Amino acid sequence: MVVTSHASIKSHDGVSTLADRWPLLGQRRPLVVYLCAIVALDLAAIVLLSSSTAFQWRDIFTFIALMGCGAVCIEASRRLGMPAGVSRDLLSAWWLPVALLLPPVYALFAPIVLQILLQLRVRATVVYRRVFSSAAIGLAGCTASFVFHHLVDDPWALSRGSALPILYAVAAAVLFSLLNIALIAIAAHTADPESPWKEVLWDRESMRLDIVELCLGVTVSISCGVNLGLLLLALPPVVLLQRSLLHAQLQAAARTDAKTGLLNAAAWQREADTEIVRARRTGDTLALLIVDIDHFKRVNDAHGHLVGDQVLVGVAATLRGQLREYDVVGRFGGEEFVVLLPGADIDEARRVAERLRVRVGHMTIPVDETLVRVTISVGVALMSVHGDDLIDLLAAADLALYRAKELGRDRVCIPVVQPPPRPIADDTSP
Ligand code: GH3
Ligand code: MG
Ligand code: MG
Repeated sequence: MVVTSHASIKSHDGVSTLADRWPLLGQRRPLVVYLCAIVALDLAAIVLLSSSTAFQWRDIFTFIALMGCGAVCIEASRRLGMPAGVSRDLLSAWWLPVALLLPPVYALFAPIVLQILLQLRVRATVVYRRVFSSAAIGLAGCTASFVFHHLVDDPWALSRGSALPILYAVAAAVLFSLLNIALIAIAAHTADPESPWKEVLWDRESMRLDIVELCLGVTVSISCGVNLGLLLLALPPVVLLQRSLLHAQLQAAARTDAKTGLLNAAAWQREADTEIVRARRTGDTLALLIVDIDHFKRVNDAHGHLVGDQVLVGVAATLRGQLREYDVVGRFGGEEFVVLLPGADIDEARRVAERLRVRVGHMTIPVDETLVRVTISVGVALMSVHGDDLIDLLAAADLALYRAKELGRDRVCIPVVQPPPRPIADDTSP
């Protein structure tokens, strides 16, 4: 499993983007301590195990062959690029066999080799993320390797087809995944203690990928044990899977605002349009909110743009966390967000907007010794009352937002609807 630099926060697309949640290291001492501890543990394990392992040519060849396959995978999908903030791949198809078949020390080396390749050939990201990922994957792999070798006398027995070693291999692969997820989730939670554990641990899409990786890793281990040459048969399907996975991630990233993980303006508009057409057809109610952070420029001026960015990420997470799965949330630009509430009438829209205002008001972003707080103003518009299409609704909500700002900010406003003109008395009528 490769969560190269992130645990996951679930965005609207189910895309995992912890990358932007890894805050400025200088401001998070517990995170720095945790990252250093994991890297130190990894280094200590490398030194200790290197001195006590009897290196054999067969193991070295197998290691080189598996790393070669990993390198081919990386090269074959390199041109597709890697979406910012999302980095799931299928490289554990290669380092799981390393953990299962070879002595545990090799599991510590495997992620280092592939992370260096990723850094040099795919995307040069912040080095500490690569170092931490190598250490986390290495420690998880090494532990799984120890457990498997303890349960099975001869790990190469895996290729003889007996059920028990295969079952143990699956168990070791599950352990590898769980440890890796736990190590990364602790980092994510230390980086952002307010994010619920469920959010950093549980993501349905990630779970599916973990299962695919597990199946691939165990299958490659078995064929690798039969004959190293069989890796040539395993390589093309894994490369193809890897490319289609990256393609799907790139597609999702094109719809996503990289900073907040919400939908970007264009994707939000497309989804909002679809919902509006549906509401018109079915006659359902629908409301639109424009949310604007108050005096955001002052946050930037007082604390810098990076803290401003953290506030944006925090507000986005609060909005997403307070809304239903099928509400459409996007970042419209700058410090403005848009929310579509299918099925909401005016009372519900007002209630939701008020809840968002209160929750964001209670949110705090720790900076040095102080806590940064912000408030929001919200403009609300209701379908059929304030407009019939997206443009009208946006214009009405924007007017209401303008009024909220004028009245002093930190409030929710609804456009004033002019009463319909009185019917003119018809003198001619009887
Ligand atoms: P108001 O209450 O009237 O909305 O005041 P405001 O300061 O929030 O609004 P204004 O439009 O004057 O300023 C918005 C600021 O948002 C200016 C811009 O530098 C900042 N901004 C826009 N996008 C980003 C971003 O991605 N990151 C950061 N840190 N700041 C941003
Ligand atoms: Mg503003
Ligand atoms: Mg604004």
